[in-house]
Amino acid sequence: MTARILEGKVFAQQFREDAKKKAEALKEKYGVQPGLAVIIVGENPASQVYVRNKHKSCEALGIYSEVIEMPESTTKEELLARIDALNANDKIHGILVQLPLPKQIASHESEILERIRPEKDVDGFHPVNVGRLVTGQPGLVPCTPFGCLRMLELAGIPIDGKRAVIIGRSNIVGKPMLHLLLSRNATVTICHSHTQDLPSVTREADILVAAVGRPHFVTADMVKPGATVIDVGINRIAPKKLVGDVDFEAVKEVAGAITPVPGGVGLLTVAMLMENVVRAAEMQLQA
Ligand code: NAD
Repeated sequence: MTARILEGKVFAQQFREDAKKKAEALKEKYGVQPGLAVIIVGENPASQVYVRNKHKSCEALGIYSEVIEMPESTTKEELLARIDALNANDKIHGILVQLPLPKQIASHESEILERIRPEKDVDGFHPVNVGRLVTGQPGLVPCTPFGCLRMLELAGIPIDGKRAVIIGRSNIVGKPMLHLLLSRNATVTICHSHTQDLPSVTREADILVAAVGRPHFVTADMVKPGATVIDVGINRIAPKKLVGDVDFEAVKEVAGAITPVPGGVGLLTVAMLMENVVRAAEMQLQA
């Protein structure tokens, strides 16, 4: 029997509807429209597409959106000054600096991201938000892993007491995913490039999350029959061909449920960003 396909668009639609309802409620109750500011430095074409998508998504949901375009030659001081102004701006509840940054400021990435007030850090990258996630306190959580968790919950996939294995230990995906699954009482193992006998670990997983960045890395023999497989990977193998980290065609014959690429996790990230902006506004109003 082939696996249940977890279509990203179905879950993304649900996240957007939730965000829209919550944004309307904030307007009615407090007269406040949630607002997002995205800073883009330089002219990276992929970044420009991502920023445009975020802006359109905000407009569709009644979220105020500002795109701040800064030249390629921007200095660290100029960028920090823009962040400071947005930190102090009451119309803006979420601030996002689109990565990657140009060469001359890329080495200051941590300092730049840490300048965003934690309450407005809708990417969830600030050490304060990381600490809140690890210690189980309410905060803002990175959009991609948070979207994966919410998808599992909405799909009715059991997490409590289950074995979850994550391949990849990045700060953006792997590590926050670990803490999110732990917070839902899974027994979680995180694997990485130094893990020995990876297939013997992944075959124990009821929930397997792949965030490696290598095409077709997860093969059918690495998956326990009936497992849920979440493919976070986005790998371009030809100008117009994207694939995930999972050998989808073979693994879908073994797994119980699986996300496709494209059309899976990738669609959840921007939808979850909208929820994070609304959550940020709610948290700022309650503070
Ligand atoms: P990363 O490069 O920061 O981390 C990759 C991880 O894979 C590392 O922790 C590394 O230890 C591990 N790894 C590498 N080789 C391995 C091996 N042979 N065995 C076991 N582990 C190995 O990547 P990232 O930022 O976490 O992204 C991972 C993938 O997810 C990429 O394809 C990226 O494009 C994609 N991604 C997608 C979204 C989305 O919206 N869907 C968001 C973020 C990242």
